[in-house]
Amino acid sequence: MRATLIYGADDARPAPPALAAEPAQHSTRVHHDASNQDGRSATVSDQSRHVTLNNGVQMPILGFGVFQIPPDQTEQAVTDALATGYRHLDTAQAYQNEEAVGRAIATSGIPRAELFVTTKLWVQDGAKRAFEQSLARLGLDYLDLYLIHQPFGDYYSSWRAMQDLYKQGVVKAIGVANFYPDRLVDLMDHNEVTPAVNQVETHPFFQRQDYQQLMGERGVQLESWGPFAEGRNNLFSDPTLSQIGAAHGKSVAQVVLRWLIQRQVVVIPKSVRPERMAENFDVFDFQLTDEEMGRIAAMDTGASVFFDHRDPEMVSRIGNVRGT
Ligand code: NAP
Repeated sequence: MRATLIYGADDARPAPPALAAEPAQHSTRVHHDASNQDGRSATVSDQSRHVTLNNGVQMPILGFGVFQIPPDQTEQAVTDALATGYRHLDTAQAYQNEEAVGRAIATSGIPRAELFVTTKLWVQDGAKRAFEQSLARLGLDYLDLYLIHQPFGDYYSSWRAMQDLYKQGVVKAIGVANFYPDRLVDLMDHNEVTPAVNQVETHPFFQRQDYQQLMGERGVQLESWGPFAEGRNNLFSDPTLSQIGAAHGKSVAQVVLRWLIQRQVVVIPKSVRPERMAENFDVFDFQLTDEEMGRIAAMDTGASVFFDHRDPEMVSRIGNVRGT
């Protein structure tokens, strides 16, 4: 059965790094940057548009997500995003639009080495077969990042298959999505390769500050999905974010993305509108103050605005949607 999007907002709805010279994503060889005082393994300067993953792979800190873009609109959206300047694309087997992403890449004429392409493995057996299918749909001969989409099912087996793919050089980095701390630490403690990335819901209402600290100590880069909470809780008209935006001549969306980037969180906002793609890309020419960062920090509710990946009903519901 093909995976179908069963919630309004993700991915569960359903919904989840040129190879380094060595299989470096190893838990015993996490490279911390001495200048990074809080111990996070991936680093980005205010001038930089990349983070460096735990195996040395460079990942653009700002990318473009294609969740919930219908397949027949995805090629145009990705074409527009690439024309805007995005070079980092985030799709998934479960989004059912990998082929359209691949067509946009092929027709863009952009050299493959300039692109960073992520896709995700759905909950299923047969990770290597699923990988080959995703690669074929994308029309690529390697991935920059391959993620386990959900921490459900036999994901230990999937991770071991992904470790093999990584060592073969057909993925430059491997990681996970939607892993809460207990599952992430357990996966890391019982496998060889440390995930380079954990892509989890992260936005002003669910900030993941403590979790980011833990991930940093363990060498895992935090990547935000749903940076705008998909507009929930009236994010785009939030008074605090609007006031901060007004002080900089920027929109709420730009404030949110800038706030995440200053926290060294990778962001992949989605839009089908070229003017919003451009707006969301224009976040490197201003800086939020410590006071502004603190005001946004005060907005954290510590809870998902979608659902909890530890809710037994959701675990069963999502985990039993089968991939292609
Ligand atoms: P999001 O980026 O938080 O929000 C997208 C929504 O915001 C869309 O309705 C979009 O509408 C609107 N929007 C975008 N830019 C805007 C702007 N400047 N002003 C006002 N509205 C704006 O939500 P998301 O797509 O769920 O998350 C981003 C990406 O994360 C996804 O595309 C996907 O790649 C990834 N993701 C991963 C998971 C996972 O389980 N791993 C889950 C969810 C998402 P328009 O399109 O009409 O502009």
